[in-house]
Amino acid sequence: MDRFQIGTVTVHRIEEWQGTFAPPSYLFQGYTPEGWDPHAEEFAPEYFDPATGHLYAFLQSWVLDTGKQRILFDTGAGNDKDRPNIPVFSNLQTDFLGNLARAGFQPEDIDVVVCSHIHIDHVGWNTRLVEGRWEPTFRNARYVLPLADRAYWDPDDAAAGPDGVGAAVNAGMYEDSVAPIVAAGRAEWAEEGFAVAEGITLLSCPGHTPGSMMLEVAGKDDNALFVGDVVHHPAQIYRPEWNSVFCEAPDQARETRRRVLDLAADRKALLVPAHFGGSHMARVLREGTGFRPVLGALGLS
Ligand SMILES: [Zn+2]
Repeated sequence: MDRFQIGTVTVHRIEEWQGTFAPPSYLFQGYTPEGWDPHAEEFAPEYFDPATGHLYAFLQSWVLDTGKQRILFDTGAGNDKDRPNIPVFSNLQTDFLGNLARAGFQPEDIDVVVCSHIHIDHVGWNTRLVEGRWEPTFRNARYVLPLADRAYWDPDDAAAGPDGVGAAVNAGMYEDSVAPIVAAGRAEWAEEGFAVAEGITLLSCPGHTPGSMMLEVAGKDDNALFVGDVVHHPAQIYRPEWNSVFCEAPDQARETRRRVLDLAADRKALLVPAHFGGSHMARVLREGTGFRPVLGALGLS
């Protein structure tokens, strides 16, 4: 699904990367074979590669065209970024901007960039390398970023918090992908309820990072929740208690995931995570005291 409609908003999927990532036992904190095995077949091949035993993942962004504004949600890993502690996303050379052009957009057409959270694979194309300097890629855009992630990641902030996996994987990120946006005077810092456009609102989803936010798009008959990394993989719809190894605040991340899945089920909303393969989105049904995903035949207009 590379284009769909929510009310009057046309949504375009812009792919950056796809491939095998890591075994489920690496990504999921709380993984058990008993939790995974019953669903492994259902996830192959679009979400799990049985040949390698690795999860199959995507990096993708979304352009929301309201007719008045073009909003780019999440900006992937970016090209030329040195990520020594996560080689799979280090010094990528993808044709993301070519994919954006094929969807009908040049970088200067983007009016607003929104990052669900500050992690290397969500802020990468905020900047690109021009003559040895990191410059804003979307030169006419304002960039909306979660306020609570600023204090967490800005190395000049005394309250900066990351350690362990988060600090290692995201080393250098703030400097090459966020600080140049702030220096260019293009950053806006969002909190709960930030209105990006009419009917398009940011809601707080803390846990994966302190500032993580989801973008709610309310149409007349349908609505979508662009949830970033609240859910990485459909296994977490069956197992909301499974965090990813990259969740900065584990207890809060589990609580938020359950709350968001509740909301998606109650509203029959389209759940649009950052890294899903297959149809790249899901609906969430209740099953017993938990949930199950619907991954195909989503009834999109
Ligand atoms: Zn991510």
